This record gives sequence, C-alpha cells and structure tokens, in this order.
Amino acid sequence: MTSQGCIVCKAVCALVIIGALNWGAIGIFQTDLVAKVLGEMTMASRVVYGLVGVAGLLKIVSCFKQCPCQCKKA
Ligand SMILES: [Zn+2]
Repeated sequence: MTSQGCIVCKAVCALVIIGALNWGAIGIFQTDLVAKVLGEMTMASRVVYGLVGVAGLLKIVSCFKQCPCQCKKA
C-alpha cells in the first residue's frame, strides 16, 4: 500500500470509500448500510452522509489541484 499523504487525505479517502460502498450497496443489494447501522435519517447517519459529502468536495479539489491541506500529495 502506498502512502496517501497526510491524515486529512486519509480521512477524505476513507470517507469517499465509505460513500462509494454505501451507494454500491444501495444499488446492488437495495440496502443502505449507513441507515441500517445508524438508523434512517438519525443525527448520526446524517453526520455520516454530511461528512461523505464534504469529503467528496475535498476529493474534487485534490483531483484537480492538490490536497486541500497543501501537503503536496496530489
Ligand atoms: Zn493532505
């Protein structure tokens, strides 16, 4: 496994993966894993959805420019 940069990059990477896998599960198994674990539209699940969304935005920045935290890992 290669280095993914700083802690922010790793967190963004993990959250984007969680979001992707959850959407995959919704499409393939018709199961919202986040809702299943944390409850449907509870505060906890909304926080996870929100964080995944924010991570997606940061990922866009890191795709087109560089890591938002300027750690020089594109
Ligand atoms: Zn970084």
